[in-house]
Amino acid sequence: MTSAQVINAGTLYVVATPIGNLADLSDRAQAVLAGVDIVACEDTRHTQKLLQHLGLRKVLLSVHDHNESDRIQQVLEHLQQGRSIALVSDAGTPLISDPGYRLVQALGEQNVTVVPVPGPSAIITALSAAGLPTDRFTFEGFLPHKRGAREEKLRALQYEARTLVFYESKHRILETLEVMQAELGSERPAVVARELTKTFETFYRGTLASVSLDIQRDADQQKGEFVVMVSGHDNPPPATDIDTDALFKLLLPELPPKKAAAIVAQLTGENKKALYQKALELQGKA
Ligand code: SAM
Repeated sequence: MTSAQVINAGTLYVVATPIGNLADLSDRAQAVLAGVDIVACEDTRHTQKLLQHLGLRKVLLSVHDHNESDRIQQVLEHLQQGRSIALVSDAGTPLISDPGYRLVQALGEQNVTVVPVPGPSAIITALSAAGLPTDRFTFEGFLPHKRGAREEKLRALQYEARTLVFYESKHRILETLEVMQAELGSERPAVVARELTKTFETFYRGTLASVSLDIQRDADQQKGEFVVMVSGHDNPPPATDIDTDALFKLLLPELPPKKAAAIVAQLTGENKKALYQKALELQGKA
């Protein structure tokens, strides 16, 4: 494939790059990088190394979390003047826990053609060898840094039935696994993928408790990049077990029926109007 065949003027190519193993860069990605006028990237030094490896010299434009909004107009002008641009991130697929969505959204609004050039992404790579259910999964990206917010986020996910997938760094992997055990249950099946496609690629399989212990035991295993995958909950939330009659008996002497019904609806997820009717019946007013 020659670059001349694949590159269209005024087009943004969203190009996935390797997450560790340079041999994972596709022929098409290479041809696009060789053919475009400009490469927009997160970290110019990082991308320069990839381009050097490919023997390419390119005009680079930095687009990262802190300047993306400012860069949109500049990118748009280049494209409107007929230049072609490849958007890459430091590793994997741009926009996936990486910058670029505001840019792609803005270009879409201006009817600029955006072409994906698919390739590696840590989430799909990890799931493909984890052995957890993949028919449905939810990608949660990075959890919040602050412990309280992280606990709250996980608590909100405790009854999620789909496989949960998170990105995590070496700085927080052990703390995250600890909080996950507290919020999701230590016996929940889990797989942690570390350093995918790299020399020290490792999969830890077991429960949240056992994988946490495996990683704790060896300081070397705490280095690198991680994808944490946790089995979904296999039972519906217990809120349906709440005895609404008993709850109303406690609430109605203290609160107006409307307020009591609103609280019961919040706790059980049942219909507020139907609960209000029930409250009136229990008070003998219906
Ligand atoms: N855009 C990338 C993608 O498509 O996967 C993700 C970028 S995000 C800023 C970086 C995070 O992805 C890391 O902290 C780690 O959780 C995960 N990750 C990236 N490369 C990885 C690898 N080789 N092994 C394990 N996790 C990886």
